[in-house]
Amino acid sequence: MEVSLSPKGGPIVARDLTGLGFREGLVGRSIVSVQRRGKFLLFGLSLETGQPPLGGRSGPPLTLAVNPKLTGRLQLSAPAGKKAGPVHVTLHFEAPREELRYVDQKRMGQLYLTSELAAIPTFAEMGPDALEASSETFRTRLRRFRGEIKGVLSREQFLAGIGNAYADEILWQARLHPYRKVSTLTSEEVDRLYAAMNVTLRESIEKVEAAMGEDIHLKPRDFFAVHMRGGKLCPRCGAKVSEITAGGRITNFCRSCQPGGLIRGL
Ligand SMILES: [Zn+2]
Repeated sequence: MEVSLSPKGGPIVARDLTGLGFREGLVGRSIVSVQRRGKFLLFGLSLETGQPPLGGRSGPPLTLAVNPKLTGRLQLSAPAGKKAGPVHVTLHFEAPREELRYVDQKRMGQLYLTSELAAIPTFAEMGPDALEASSETFRTRLRRFRGEIKGVLSREQFLAGIGNAYADEILWQARLHPYRKVSTLTSEEVDRLYAAMNVTLRESIEKVEAAMGEDIHLKPRDFFAVHMRGGKLCPRCGAKVSEITAGGRITNFCRSCQPGGLIRGL
């Protein structure tokens, strides 16, 4: 691949942890694998650079790790295709002749080139991926965290991969009030939460995949039950969906299906 960084946002979002240089470390390599861990997409890179070896340059296997945060997107496109937003990093492929663009309106996300995932800030602190945690792991880890269930559910240190939106959706599915304290959850409620997390995430992945197809820069969310649907009707009981903004984060839930939270008078 070839790589180009935009003069404006490229250096802000692209971080080299190898000493090779972000662009220099990527040029000539191919992407050989794609995995996800929490909110990171991990692109495994070929050892070969497709160029004459520069003093045994191939070195250890490298990974391009992308954390798009709230505003970043990856767009796969023909070179002449319309840009989905401000492009900061472009990977140009030869076969097929396509581009993988990193698009980010607010330059919130990061792309790391690294030979060691633990070198990525916060990566080593992440709990297990939400889709890989067993019910036992879920229960054991939950005991270590204090505070409101929504906050805990969206903490990377508890489980990786659940953000503000999916925390709302999971809690609605589990019929649990987002501001319930973790310490007040009964054993049955913890089981319900674990089951709801799995159902919500797996079903959502299917819906997102079906809606986006090859257009991976899209962020389909029109299937949400409560998140960003404040004032609309709960699809389960027909009551109005509540909306509370705290600390710059919107929380949506159904007071009728998700009762409780009396401490805050909610
Ligand atoms: Zn409801």
